[in-house]
Amino acid sequence: MVGIPLSGMILRGGEGTKLNLKYKRMFDVSNQQQNPISDMGLWVDGGWVWRFNWRRALFVWEVKLLDELTTSLQNFKPVVSEEDKWVWVVSEGGGFSVASAYKYLQDQGLVEVSKAFEALWKIPAPSNVLAFAWKALLDRIQSRENLRKRNIIAVGQVSLCLLCQEDEESTGHVLFSCKRSWEVWMWCYNWWGIQTALPHDCKGHFEQHVSVGRRSVGIGWLVVWCSCIWAIWLARNQMVFKHAVNVADKERLTEVIKLKSWIWLRGKLKGFSYSFYEWSTNPKVCLEGAG
Ligand SMILES: [Zn+2]
Repeated sequence: MVGIPLSGMILRGGEGTKLNLKYKRMFDVSNQQQNPISDMGLWVDGGWVWRFNWRRALFVWEVKLLDELTTSLQNFKPVVSEEDKWVWVVSEGGGFSVASAYKYLQDQGLVEVSKAFEALWKIPAPSNVLAFAWKALLDRIQSRENLRKRNIIAVGQVSLCLLCQEDEESTGHVLFSCKRSWEVWMWCYNWWGIQTALPHDCKGHFEQHVSVGRRSVGIGWLVVWCSCIWAIWLARNQMVFKHAVNVADKERLTEVIKLKSWIWLRGKLKGFSYSFYEWSTNPKVCLEGAG
């Protein structure tokens, strides 16, 4: 039980403040700042009793603070038989989700709030795909251009896009404007019966896909958008890390996009129970039916 140091303990049910911050004075005079909680007390008749150790005798006002701290700790019930585990304190159930992480960062003022970002977390796609899309929107994926800018690829080393071998691999290039990716997007628009001119930067591209048609159609289109950037990026990774060939062919990628988007929608969009054949042949009708 309980190998977490006191400095890592967080008061739950209250404001979520860390104990070492809320009771900073007590933490400062503690001899046990890095001790695991299991070393800070003992079991007496099946109950946990705290044993604190201070650098010096406490002042009277500190004793009052200690009383308050001890009262706060009454709700903390260590369990002998249970393994320590990390709990994501941001969400109520303690489980991690990308949406809760985003909301937390947003509340802290750490992320840009825009319609695009808000729309992203509502897309019924796997959380790792949404996390990738989020990084792409922020231009934080490990494209060769970004690696070069961070001096991970030295000047003079290859930062060319592997898909086309013609331009530097930036986020916008590899996912949208590369002639290989462009072909895939054009196929997607054709599949959906859309004619459009699209920006080459990720955020502008995504924003053009937000609020397309009625709600279920819009959601489906965003699922396709995610499956498209995901399929292109996975193919690119296979080329970079496994020296795979022919993985970025339009025929292969478009099959992957149709299949992934169908699986995600079947799993996560209410009322979407169409066959793969129906989805492949008329995606819009399927989504209108689901809405
Ligand atoms: Zn390229």
